[in-house]
Amino acid sequence: MIQTQLYIDGQWQSPIDRGTRAIVSPADESVIAQAAEATRADARLAIAAARKAFDGPWRQTTIRDRAKLLNKLAELIDRDADKLAHLESLNTGKTLTESRTDMGDIAATFRYFAGLVASESGAVNEAPHHVISRTLREPVGVCGLITPWNYPLLQAAWKIAPALGAGNTVVIKPSNLTPLTTHHFTQLVAELDLPPGVFNLVTGGAEVGAELAESLDVDLVSFTGGAFAGESIMKAATGNFKRIGLELGGKNPNIVFADADLDAAVDYALNAAFFHAGQVCSAGSRLMVEDSIYDAFIGRLAERLPRIVIGNGFHGETQMGPVQSAQQHEKILGMVQAGIAEGARLVHGGKRPAGDVYKKGYWLEPTLLADVTAEMKIAKEEIFGPVITAERFRSEAEALRAANDTPYGLAAAVWTRDLDKANRMSRALRFGTVWVNDYHPYFPEAPWGGYKASGIGRELARIGLDEYTELKHSYINLAPKAMGWFGA
Ligand code: NAD
Repeated sequence: MIQTQLYIDGQWQSPIDRGTRAIVSPADESVIAQAAEATRADARLAIAAARKAFDGPWRQTTIRDRAKLLNKLAELIDRDADKLAHLESLNTGKTLTESRTDMGDIAATFRYFAGLVASESGAVNEAPHHVISRTLREPVGVCGLITPWNYPLLQAAWKIAPALGAGNTVVIKPSNLTPLTTHHFTQLVAELDLPPGVFNLVTGGAEVGAELAESLDVDLVSFTGGAFAGESIMKAATGNFKRIGLELGGKNPNIVFADADLDAAVDYALNAAFFHAGQVCSAGSRLMVEDSIYDAFIGRLAERLPRIVIGNGFHGETQMGPVQSAQQHEKILGMVQAGIAEGARLVHGGKRPAGDVYKKGYWLEPTLLADVTAEMKIAKEEIFGPVITAERFRSEAEALRAANDTPYGLAAAVWTRDLDKANRMSRALRFGTVWVNDYHPYFPEAPWGGYKASGIGRELARIGLDEYTELKHSYINLAPKAMGWFGA
């Protein structure tokens, strides 16, 4: 049985009150690990260690040292990629293929930020000859990093790599449902010769996250998760006006025009919605199809859905695993029922699959609800499960209006062969990412984040590093002379 501990001030340790939490496999509800469950008191120790390390010799590290550190971590992730992918699938239920892809993306993220850090040099500004004026990027300080359960190590990597690369110290708190890969990553960090306190792991629940958000010794909180927690973090951050980055939920329209390549659009509509059983912040669960092809499109999806292989993420033939928790399972089924009550037509799914292997674990059939209208709750709220809701639209203007009529703004996709329409739509959609004739690709070079209630700030790309820095104007007068302005 895996047992995890906290990592504080360079030491592995148990929580002060010895708390533990059973970590459960979403595939069969068996206990797969006992994780350390920290409290606020442990978080305070970790914050103090990170504060001390930031105010100590860590400040003297060069960009070369830090780029080397990120490259070394990428190497260690590659070395342990199989083990990490196994843990991620065990803990989240996602297929091993998806977890392996995550590990490749995680190593790429560390390498990308290593390159970016190494290229940082600040700027010398135009100024009088006796003045040296420079614009410098400096670390923010102690960073509290709070991550969700759907992409545990990937979301952590998007934060850890730029935070350490910019010269900050870190306290990370993964979701207490899925701490296993972040714990293993911390073992990789512990192999290196970092000063104590530079990197700290505190596994626990909301109270640990709240301590990070409230602490006056934390200078920045970067959070990925739901709107409810995001709101409380934003409020808590006012205590010392700490920097905040929020990556929140989404309600992401996948808009198919009649002139699209329909073979590709049908195929990607399934990828958009059922990747990781729909538990993706950018999942394309809100399908919008032009009236003239709507019935045929729904028919083609209906043919494909029963053929999706649901099963244990470790089995090679599995295409979709379970959802992550009993709570999610119940919530998703509740939303499907609410959609049917509002008038949506259940085309497929909406229940636990039949068969003995699905009796234990959090299994759901891939679900299609057709004839959804923009006013329905299921067209507005994030479902975060394997559910497509399909709406019909009659014109480009109607599609645009309905797609933008949501508090969220994370991602959207448009399918059309008309380049002019593609361009118009991608400009007019109010979302942080707009894909045309594709769904889901992201990479470290491009920014990730949301408009409106999908968050504040961006991860990845240069901006994803800049968010972990303060900008300083350094002005040095080499030949000061009295001005004689006052009372001379
Ligand atoms: P969650 O908000 O319940 O939890 C996220 C993290 O915050 C966990 O570590 C949790 O323990 C912690 N937390 C909970 N309450 C807190 C509080 N009051 N103060 C501080 N920390 C607190 O989210 P979740 O259920 O783990 O993740 C699912 C959500 O995450 C979905 O809404 C999804 O869309 C979103 N998400 C967004 C992105 C993105 O890039 N925008 C990526 C992944 C997930």
